[in-house]
Amino acid sequence: MAAKKLLLLPGDGIGPEAMAEVRKIVAYMNAELKSDFSLEEGLVGGCAYDAHGKAISESDMAKALAADAVLFGAVGGPKWDSVPYDVRPEAGLLRLRKDMELFANLRPAICYPALADSSSLKKEIVEGLDILIVRELTGGVYFGEPKEIRDLGNGQKRGIDTQVYDTYEIERISGVAFELARTRGNKVTSMEKRNVMKSGVLWNEVVTATHKAKYSDVKLEHMLADAGGMQLVRWPKQFDVIVTDNLFGDMLSDIAAMLTGSLGMLPSASLGAPDAKTGKRKALYEPVHGSAPDIAGTGAANPIAMIASFAMCLRYSFNMITEADRLEAAVAGVLDDGLRTGDIMSEGKTKIGTVEMGDAILAKFKALAA
Ligand code: NAD
Repeated sequence: MAAKKLLLLPGDGIGPEAMAEVRKIVAYMNAELKSDFSLEEGLVGGCAYDAHGKAISESDMAKALAADAVLFGAVGGPKWDSVPYDVRPEAGLLRLRKDMELFANLRPAICYPALADSSSLKKEIVEGLDILIVRELTGGVYFGEPKEIRDLGNGQKRGIDTQVYDTYEIERISGVAFELARTRGNKVTSMEKRNVMKSGVLWNEVVTATHKAKYSDVKLEHMLADAGGMQLVRWPKQFDVIVTDNLFGDMLSDIAAMLTGSLGMLPSASLGAPDAKTGKRKALYEPVHGSAPDIAGTGAANPIAMIASFAMCLRYSFNMITEADRLEAAVAGVLDDGLRTGDIMSEGKTKIGTVEMGDAILAKFKALAA
């Protein structure tokens, strides 16, 4: 069997510290579980700018396109605040998303039982929560043309953004949502604003038609996106998979994410279309958090979002479901044991650093595999 090609792009700030903990898990899996990962590394963000004068080099871009999956840490920091706009650290991530054509952004919101008390919502509302938001990532109002500030010549200006979706874009993102729902609770909730937006009317029609044509075994419901935001906070456990556009997805996934606690806990995946020959999707996995310059270099970063992103990679890129389940169970187990990094610390728990957290998760993962 060909090696599984993983490209690691640790980036800036706490990115490399968190990625080091994933590297330990990969090394163990290669040595003991014969997992056959072949690792490459590259630079992205501020560190790439320092080395090459751009946020990602052409050779690292080529490695990303050739990899089976890319693991991304975080980019940015005050050091690069004044670099030119087109080579700023975030440009590296945007280039990766664009060139790899990653149109589906997956954000799970899972509430670990041990952290249910630290949510801003009541424990019974979030305990055991496990939902997945599938956000369209390459279309909609963030990219539609015209996009400009027009001078009206009468002392007024007009800001214009254009919400635009074609049938194929809605078909492919809803296809991803239906397929993922089949591996989970078998239910999709599609959210748009068909009451006031033409793109919402088309979204609703195409999701309904896609469902009828190929996925009628999955339960489908439609909800207006504003009502969806309310329901996410009122009773989030009613949802399994939510599919929505770029703009609503941006907001709804942040709401869903914060139901579960700290930024340091949240993984994400971005997927492209399946390759016509191999059926493999291009994929990039990254924590939701940024480079946390305030704690970078102190050994205090929570590596769980990065490790959980690797668990998503095992699940969605390599179909290693048992290993993904075990790694997620290892994270839950360590939290049950009362171990906490500073960002999720609470009274009576044991405060540890990045490396200790990585070691504890690896030890549990090994124990679960034994
Ligand atoms: P941030 O996510 O880096 O940090 C916000 C707060 O959360 C900070 O107090 C930080 O210490 C804390 N935090 C974040 N991740 C943590 C972790 N794993 N463990 C413990 N605490 C954690 O967001 P910010 O401060 O707004 O941005 C800092 C830099 O990161 C900026 O340059 C920003 O542009 C960049 N950024 C990058 C990405 C990305 O790479 N995808 C995303 C967001 C922000």
